[in-house]
Amino acid sequence: MKQATVLYWASRALRTHENPAFYQAQQIALTQKAQLIVLFNAYPRFPHANLRNMDFLLKGLAEMSDTCAQLNIPLYFRVGNIIDHLETLKQTFNIQHIITEVHVLRPLLAVQALVSNWSYANQIRFFKVNTACVVPVQEASPKLEFAARTFRPKIMKIYKDYLEMDIHLIKHPQTIILDDRFKVADIAAFYASTPLPYIEPSKLLPGETAAIEQLNFFIAHGLDNYDRRNEIDAKGQSYLSAYLHYGMLAPTKMIREVLNTNHPNAALFIEEAMVRRELAENYCFYNPNYDKLEGAWPWAIETLKRHEQDERPYLYSRESLEKAQTHDDLWNHCQRQIVEEGYLHSYLRMYWAKMVLLWTKNASEAIDILVHLNDTYMLDGRDPNGYTGILWSVAGVHDRPWFDRPVFGLIRAMGKEGSLKKTKIKL
Ligand SMILES: Cc1cc2nc3c(=O)[nH]c(=O)nc-3n(C[C@H](O)[C@H](O)[C@H](O)COP(=O)(O)OP(=O)(O)OC[C@H]3O[C@@H](n4cnc5c(N)ncnc54)[C@H](O)[C@@H]3O)c2cc1C
Repeated sequence: MKQATVLYWASRALRTHENPAFYQAQQIALTQKAQLIVLFNAYPRFPHANLRNMDFLLKGLAEMSDTCAQLNIPLYFRVGNIIDHLETLKQTFNIQHIITEVHVLRPLLAVQALVSNWSYANQIRFFKVNTACVVPVQEASPKLEFAARTFRPKIMKIYKDYLEMDIHLIKHPQTIILDDRFKVADIAAFYASTPLPYIEPSKLLPGETAAIEQLNFFIAHGLDNYDRRNEIDAKGQSYLSAYLHYGMLAPTKMIREVLNTNHPNAALFIEEAMVRRELAENYCFYNPNYDKLEGAWPWAIETLKRHEQDERPYLYSRESLEKAQTHDDLWNHCQRQIVEEGYLHSYLRMYWAKMVLLWTKNASEAIDILVHLNDTYMLDGRDPNGYTGILWSVAGVHDRPWFDRPVFGLIRAMGKEGSLKKTKIKL
């Protein structure tokens, strides 16, 4: 009889620190004197997979694999149909448990359903653990929240209970041959066998070490200016969103360490990095239409439909927008930065998105174009924050009705002059 094995299927939490799914997998393995293995399965045809996002992901994964190896835990990298790979792994390992992360977006939920069914058919226990939020989405709220003001009191009342977690991985006593584990050298082989759409890789350093360094840098140098983060030159933003998206940084560690500074700006950061971020998780978890106009509240759908026939000052195709070929130098600047760097300042993301509503046929088309641009180019794209940010900008999700205007209806409008003033950007 082969020794029992616990498999941690990693996809959303590419870290070894404060990773509740990985930790629980190890705890079960320790209790059952089982082996522990990690699987990462890549889908090259996953929506919007490209060289920029895969490069960041794979280099971070290689670092995670090295740390796992020091803990006697092999991390295997597979490409394509996960069920085929699980079948193959089952021939070598007596898999008894599969533990993975809670996801809220449709593509990964679909794959998780396949793995859940396969596990059931093979009498393997399968379950998901929260890794992306401080407070697990269903514990923060049992329902779709209407606005930050309805969600904030709920999460603020309980979040500190989730911050003090002592969940360190230890060197695993059951050793496995580590030869086949994922290494940085495997990345080139993957690229050679799997052509990906070329988008220039980001200059941001990937991996959990870089993520923690960025957090430390922000606490030492950025937090002081967080209240002035709308001004471009203040550099008050944390630049942590990509690390959070790939799970290279634990949200618990980030919130705890910022809170422990007792800095007057800590509350502002917690509002964005926990309340708003976990409200986005709530929105996508409870609303399968998170990336469509149908996912907006009835008042917003109604006002946008009523203004659908309004004359637009300009009409641009997706191609013109993607190539930053509009009449507006501020908007073109934003779009070029997204394409070249994969990052845009928070305030400008709102301006960037709202202008697309103004310059396209209707809100549904605007949302489709924004999802395409955001998910293709942003390093932190394909994230609940992205869909929520787009739906907030175009369709008033979590916002309130404003004053009736052409095209926008009751959706909050933004103008170029105001955005230039607020960000103090010099074009
Ligand atoms: C149209 C539009 C598209 C967006 N697309 C994305 C996206 O694809 N991925 C993404 O992570 N964020 C997205 N955001 C939210 C926000 O703009 C970014 O999270 C932020 O700019 C990232 O930079 P930072 O980490 O330096 O932010 P900081 O201000 O330092 O914030 C720290 C963290 O708080 C969270 N956060 C900040 N602002 C928000 C917000 N408004 N809603 C939810 N969480 C927030 C993020 O996780 C961020 O990393 C989008 C917003 C809009 C309006």
